[in-house]
Amino acid sequence: MATRRGPPDPARLDRIVAEARRSQEARARTYREQALKLFPWICGRCAREFDRSTVQQLTVHHKDHNHDNNPPDGSNWELLCVYCHDNEHSRELEAAARDGRADDNATQAATHRPFANLADLLKGGRRNG
Ligand SMILES: [Zn+2]
Ligand SMILES: [Zn+2]
Repeated sequence: MATRRGPPDPARLDRIVAEARRSQEARARTYREQALKLFPWICGRCAREFDRSTVQQLTVHHKDHNHDNNPPDGSNWELLCVYCHDNEHSRELEAAARDGRADDNATQAATHRPFANLADLLKGGRRNG
């Protein structure tokens, strides 16, 4: 480090600080790193555990499917292994294809079926009675 005579240049310092802040933000913005810091390295579906050698198979899923929605508390993130993540999105695509549209709300409504086990209940009731 060369020592320079004269007063420090405030503009130069500002630039350094701004640059440092920018790169820090860029790093923080990579939600994958944030999610991996926040959550234990376990798949939210199959409960498979990961470590440093396998963590690249762990992905960050966005619960509302909006990759721009990255709250710092991680409330929109879910860690899923690549297989479960694939599964999650192929279900979503199937539902969208069935509906003929890829609307998020419609997709959620389609995957949430409150009467899914009604037929089973009726069947079971009949068999018992
Ligand atoms: Zn999994
Ligand atoms: Zn996803």
